[in-house]
Amino acid sequence: MKETNIHVHPLTRVIDDINRIFFKMGFTLVDGPELETEYYNFDALNVPKDHPARDMQDTFWVKPTKDLPGVERRLMRTHTSPMQVHYMEENKNPPIKILCPGKTYRKEATDATHETQFQQFEGLYIDKEVSLATLKTVLNKMFDEFFEKDIDVRFRPSYFPFVEPGAEIDISCFKCKGEAGCPVCKGTGWVEVMGAGVVHPKVLNNIGINPNEWKGFAFGCSVERLAMMKYGVDDIRLFYSGDLRLVNQF
Ligand SMILES: [Zn+2]
Repeated sequence: MKETNIHVHPLTRVIDDINRIFFKMGFTLVDGPELETEYYNFDALNVPKDHPARDMQDTFWVKPTKDLPGVERRLMRTHTSPMQVHYMEENKNPPIKILCPGKTYRKEATDATHETQFQQFEGLYIDKEVSLATLKTVLNKMFDEFFEKDIDVRFRPSYFPFVEPGAEIDISCFKCKGEAGCPVCKGTGWVEVMGAGVVHPKVLNNIGINPNEWKGFAFGCSVERLAMMKYGVDDIRLFYSGDLRLVNQF
C-alpha cells in the first residue's frame, strides 16, 4: 500500500479520542466564545470579586474600546467553564450532560509544562441522582479507554470556588506499578490529572436551576497534559512549535 503523508497532530488525536469516549457515554458536545465577559469567566462561577482565586488565574484582559462604552470588560477565557454557564442559561431544564472542549488562555511564564494558550475539556452532568460515585464511574471509564488499560482513579479533597466539595483527581500510573524511579509518577504510583467536584449550589442558583431539585458534577482537564502523558512528550511547547518532526511521528 502507498505510504500516506497525512499525519494527525497529537492534540487533535487526544481531542478526538476524548470526544468519542464521552459520546459513547451520552454526553453532547458544546462550543462557546474564547473572548468572554468577566461575568461568565468568574462571577457566574462563584469567584468573588476580591477572592484570591481570581488572582490565581493571571488573565489576559482585553482593552475596552471607545466604540462600546459601558460594555463589561472582557478577557480571554482562563478555563472552559464559561461554556457550561452559557449552556445552562439556555437549557434550564436538566438533565444536562455536556462536554466542552476548547482553547484557554493564561498570562503566565512559558516553560516545559506551561503555555499561555492551551486546551481543556470540561464535563458537566446534572440530573436528580448524580453523585461523586457517578463521577468516579465516568472518569474510570474515560481513563480506561483513553490509556487502553485498567486505570484506577482516586479523589483528594481540594478547593475550587465553583464546586463543593472539590477534588483533585489522580489516576494510577499507566507506566509502572509505583516502582521507584518511574519518571511519570516519581515512584508514587499516582499521577495528578484534573480538578473536579459537585457543582456549587450558588452556581446553579445564579443560573436559575434549583439546587434542591438538581445535583451535578463538573470536571476540567488539560488536553496537553493528557497528550504529554500518553505520547511521552516532555515539553508542552513542542505541540505549538510547528516542528513537523513531532507531528510526523503520529
Ligand atoms: Zn509510575
